[in-house]
Amino acid sequence: MVFGIGKNKTAPAVPGVASAMPRDGQVKGGRPMSGLMQDWPMTVDKVLEHARINHGFREVITRTVEGPVVRQTYAEIYDRSKQVSAALLEDGMQIGDRIATLAWNTGRHMETWYGTMCVGGVLHTVNPRLFPEQIAWIINHAGDTHLFFDITFLPIVEAIHDKCPTLRRFVLLTDEAHMPKDAKVPNLVAYETYIAGKSKDVEWGNFDEKTACGLCYTSGTTGDPKGVLYSHRSNVLHALMGAQKDALGIGVSDVVLPVVPMFHANAWGITFLAPLVGAGLVMPGAKMDGASIYELLDSEKVTFSAAVPTVWLTLLQHLESNNLKLPHLERVVIGGSAVPERILRAFEENYQVEVIHAWGMTEMSPMGSLGSMTPEVKAKGRDETVRYKLKQGRPPFGVEMKIIDDDGNDVPRDGKTSGHLMVRGWAVANAYFKGAGGNILDENGYFDTGDVANICPYGFMQITDRAKDVIKSGGEWISSIDIENIAVGHPAVAVAAAIGLPHPKWDERPLLIIELKPGATATREDILNYLNGKIAKWWMPDDVAFVDKVPLGATGKINKLQLRETFKNHRLPTVQAAE
Ligand code: AMP
Repeated sequence: MVFGIGKNKTAPAVPGVASAMPRDGQVKGGRPMSGLMQDWPMTVDKVLEHARINHGFREVITRTVEGPVVRQTYAEIYDRSKQVSAALLEDGMQIGDRIATLAWNTGRHMETWYGTMCVGGVLHTVNPRLFPEQIAWIINHAGDTHLFFDITFLPIVEAIHDKCPTLRRFVLLTDEAHMPKDAKVPNLVAYETYIAGKSKDVEWGNFDEKTACGLCYTSGTTGDPKGVLYSHRSNVLHALMGAQKDALGIGVSDVVLPVVPMFHANAWGITFLAPLVGAGLVMPGAKMDGASIYELLDSEKVTFSAAVPTVWLTLLQHLESNNLKLPHLERVVIGGSAVPERILRAFEENYQVEVIHAWGMTEMSPMGSLGSMTPEVKAKGRDETVRYKLKQGRPPFGVEMKIIDDDGNDVPRDGKTSGHLMVRGWAVANAYFKGAGGNILDENGYFDTGDVANICPYGFMQITDRAKDVIKSGGEWISSIDIENIAVGHPAVAVAAAIGLPHPKWDERPLLIIELKPGATATREDILNYLNGKIAKWWMPDDVAFVDKVPLGATGKINKLQLRETFKNHRLPTVQAAE
C-alpha cells in the first residue's frame, strides 16, 4: 500500500516516531518516511580504519619522551592500537570504563587513545599541569580504572596513586629499557610489555555512535573542574567540521604538528582530523620550547601547526634571535587566548605564514569559530583584514551562535553590541559528567560560554570580556576562586579577590587584591608566603595589592568588572622582564 505525501491523516502512527509527528505550524498530515541509506554508525574506529586502508604508509613522527625521533605509519599505529585494545580487554576493561592518560602528544598516546575508544572505553586525558591534589580529585571523580602516563609524570603518580582507589593498573608509556628501577607505584607495567604479543584482530566498533568516547575536565568554570564527555558521533562530526576548507582545511598533502596537547580538548580535534584526511602527523612529545618546535617544523617540513599564543611567542623569539626562516610552514592556527597583533603580523608579514585565529572551548570539542577571511573583508585592504583577523572568527557549519543581553533578548549583529555568547551544535556539551553544574542549556538548547562578545554583519565574532571568574595564563586556567579561598585563610585577610591582568608572554597573570581585617597588618610577602605550597607555582599571583574595601555587586558578590577597571593600569612586576 502506498501513502501519498500529505494524505492519510488517520493512518496509524509509525511505532517510535511519535516525537517526529507534526507540531503546530509544521506540515500537517502524512507520516515520516525513513531514508533508504546504510546505517553506518559514526564511531572513531572508522577514522583510523580509513587511514590504515587509504593512507596506511603516511607517517606519524614522534619526538619521544626518551629522546629520539621515531617514525611510524598509520598502519603501524592502527596495529598497535588494536594491541592496546586487546591488552585492555584481557585486563578486564569493560565498555564505558574510563582509561586515564597523563601524557604528551606522542604515537603511544595516540595508540592508547584509539585502542581505548575503539572498544567502547572512555579515554580520559588528564591535564598534567594541574596541582597533584586536583589531578587526584579529577581521577577519583571520573572513577578511572587505568592510568597510562609518561615518565615525566612519574613523580605526580608516585604522589597520588594511593589517593586514587579506583585506579588498578598503571602503565608507563615506555619500554623495559627505560623503566625506572625504584618507581614507587603498584601494578606498574611498561607499555611495550603491556601490549607485546597481543592480538591485532580485536573487533572494533559495533556500538551506538552516541556511546561515550572521551572525557576531558575543564577548570574554566567556577567551582570544581567539570568533565566534558564526548561521544563517538560528536568526535566524528567535529573532525568533519574541521575538514571544511574555511575551518582547519588540512588535506593529504599537509604535514601537521599539533603543539596543542591532546589533553587540551583532543588537541583541537587534530588527532581525529589528520588520519581522517590522511595528513602526516608530527608529535612534539615533551619539548615545546621554540628551538625544539623549530627543529621539527624544519626537519619534517611541517605545513600546518596549532598552538596557543604563548608557544608561538617563544618560537618567534627563537626565529628572530637566530635569523631563521619558515620555508615549509603554510598556516598556523592560534587559539585558546586572543592572538596579539604582533604575533599575527610577525607570522604573516615576516614569515609568509597565514594565521587562522580560532576560538573554542573544551565544551565545544573545542572548535567554535575560525578567522578565515571572506572576500568582503579582503577587499577592504590589509589593515582592515588584520583588524578582522584579530576578531575570534566565524562559526563553521555545525556551530550556531547568538549573543543575548542580560534579559535573554538577542542583540543586533552590528559588531558593537556585546552580550553573552551562546552556542549550540552537534559537538557542544549537553551536560557535564555526572550532572555537575546541573542544567547547562537554556530553553532553546544553547550553552552559555561565559564569554562576552559581539558579532558583526559579516558574521565575525569578537570576544570583548569574560563573565566567568577564571584567569587564563599560557592557555591554562587558574581558578581565581581557589586562590581567594586559600588567601582568606590568612589570619589578617578579610576579603581576597583575584583578577587576570594582561601579560605580554602569558596573556594573563593573576593579581591578588586584599582587604585586611580591621586593625590587622600583612605585607605582599606575607600573603605570597602563605600561598606558597598550597597552590601550583604557576598559579602564584604576580603581585598583591591592598584596598580599603573590595567592591561588591548588587548580589553581594565581588565586583570583578569594577576591580578590572580600577586595576587596568596596574603594572605587574613580571611584565617588564617579558617585554
Ligand atoms: P578551554 O575550555 O580551556 O579551551 O577554554 C575556553 C575559553 O578560552 C573560552 O571560553 C575563552 O574564554 C577562551 N578562549 C579560547 N580561545 C580564545 C580566543 N581566540 N580569544 C579569546 N579567548 C579565547
